This record gives sequence, C-alpha cells and structure tokens, in this order.
Amino acid sequence: MENIKKMKPTVLIVDDMEENLMLLNDILEEKYTIKIAKSGQKALDIVQKGGVDLILLDVVMPGMDGYEVCKTLQNDKKTEDIPIIFVTGNTSVRDEKKGFELGAVDYITKPFNLVTVRARVKTHMNLHLKQLELEKYIAMIEKISITDGLTSLYNRRHFNEIFPKVINSAKRKDELICFLLLDIDHFKPYNDHYGHQAGDEALMKFASSLKSNLKRADDMAFRLGGEEFGIVYKSDTQQKAYQFANKVRQNIEDLQIVHEYNSASGFLTASMGLLCKKATQIKDMDEAFKQADDLLYEAKENGRNQVKMNNEE
Ligand code: GH3
Ligand code: MG
Ligand code: MG
Repeated sequence: MENIKKMKPTVLIVDDMEENLMLLNDILEEKYTIKIAKSGQKALDIVQKGGVDLILLDVVMPGMDGYEVCKTLQNDKKTEDIPIIFVTGNTSVRDEKKGFELGAVDYITKPFNLVTVRARVKTHMNLHLKQLELEKYIAMIEKISITDGLTSLYNRRHFNEIFPKVINSAKRKDELICFLLLDIDHFKPYNDHYGHQAGDEALMKFASSLKSNLKRADDMAFRLGGEEFGIVYKSDTQQKAYQFANKVRQNIEDLQIVHEYNSASGFLTASMGLLCKKATQIKDMDEAFKQADDLLYEAKENGRNQVKMNNEE
C-alpha cells in the first residue's frame, strides 16, 4: 500500500492523432506516469502487460475503435476494473450513452478543456486507487478471520463453515470423507513443566508438521481448539487414509520435542481419531465430529500416540 502511494499512478492515453496525445501528455505527465498507444490493438497489448491504472480512450480510430477496446477490456476479469474515460469528438447523446453502457466511467468531448481533463482524471484515479486499497484490505481481513493467530492454520470458524460443504460435495460425488481429529498427549503437564511459551512454540512446530503432510489442494488442516487439531482430506480407500494418518502421527513424534511427562513416548505426541467412511453414511458435521471424537477417546484410552479408525464398512 505504501508503494502505491509513493509511485505515480499510470494513465494510458489512446489516440490515433499525435497532436491529441501530446496535448494530453502535457496536461497529465506531472502527476502521472504516461503510457501511449496509437491504436486500439496497441492499447490492449499495453493493458495486458499490467500496471495501467486508468485509460483515456479515443473513440474514432482506424482499425479497432474505442468502443471495441472498451468492450474487450470490460469482458476480461483482469482488466474490467480499470476506469476508462472516453475522449471523443462524437458529441451526440447517443454516443455518450453507448460509452457509458459499455462500462466507461466518464466521457469527455473534444475540443477538451485542460482543467476538466485534469479534474476528471484525478477524481476517477483517486476513486479507483481507493477501491483497490479497500479490496486489498477486505481480502486481508477475510484471511485473518479464517486463520488461527498462533499457528497460521485455518481456525475453528473456517472449519465450521467449510466442513459441511466438504461433506455435501463428497455425498454428491459418492466419495469417502476422511476427518482426522488430533489431540496432543499430556499437553497440560508439558505446559506446567516447560512453560507456556515453550507450549506455544511446540504448538507452532506441531502445526508446521501437519501442514507439511498436506499434498493435495483439497487437503486442509485446522486448529480446532487449544491443543486440538483437525485434518480434512481425500482418499479413495480406508487403508490409504489410515496410512496417511499414521504418517502424520509419526512425523509429529519425529519432531523430537522432548516431553518427559508423556506416558506414551519421550517426545511430544498426539492421539488421533480417524473417521473415514462414505459421505452418504454421514448425517452431518456434528455427527462426523462426534464419531471422530469417540475414536480419539479410544486412542487415548488405548495408550495414546496412536490412530484409531472406524471399522471398515
Ligand atoms: P490428554 O493426553 O488427555 O489430552 O491430556 P492433556 O494434558 O493434553 O489434556 P488437557 O485437556 O487436560 O490439557 C490441555 C492443555 O493444553 C491445557 C493447556 O495448558 C494447554 N493449552 C491449550 N491451549 C494452549 C495454548 O494456546 N498455548 C499453550 N501453551 N498451551 C495451551
Ligand atoms: Mg484436549
Ligand atoms: Mg491433550
């Protein structure tokens, strides 16, 4: 955002008449970086390369005219938000209407008044840059709202939103759903003996280890609570799903985070409940969670540092 403020924004001037290009360049070059195109096609080439913040577009040009350029830019997701101001000798209301219908933000008629051109470019440029800043800011807030602050994994809120969707999608495709619920073993004594700070550091390493196991775009890891985590992933067989979970478990132990008060190992470990079944056999997210939680409880009861999976269907 700092950069945007410091750098001069870029205006692309499109006109087939050298004289107009020079004139507009003279009025605007103090405040803006100027790019110039003498034809519609050249204008599109320049815009495609990126970095254009606003376009002053002549309507009547040989070859591709301004309307056509405008239409092309408006139909492309990458360029549709770049403000276009038509600069034209066509002064009829009909022409003006057409320009606005095609998505232009403004319409300046020739011969143009320098003060007007400067003022309109400034207005639309500022509006556009503010809009871009706002969009960046919103994207940042959206990311923060679904991310756990300590571990950078997805948080519980995102899990609650996404897991039902994953279940429903798997139902439609008649796929298996794999939900691995993990809970660190004897983490309270870890904190009590090594301190809360060391506990936090262990949680971060733990989370990195989980992330490093994710290979497919659809796989997701969550921090669901204090020392409770979840992984939602795809697998075509229960056996492979179990192997994946066991690898996750082994990788955690292989971090070799010393934990003398863990009855299951000399290092930090986690117990895991793995629910892996046809999505069509799962009612909803709450049921899936309950079943994984029961399996996790069994893993704890059975000695910790292990994966407990539901029986094959
Ligand atoms: P079990 O093997 O049965 O899961 O035992 P446990 O000690 O892990 O379970 P318990 O639920 O009694 O304790 C969980 C502990 O996790 C409590 C708290 O000290 C610790 N914890 C939870 N969230 C955080 C956190 O954000 N940072 C740190 N450092 N510790 C946390
Ligand atoms: Mg717990
Ligand atoms: Mg625990």
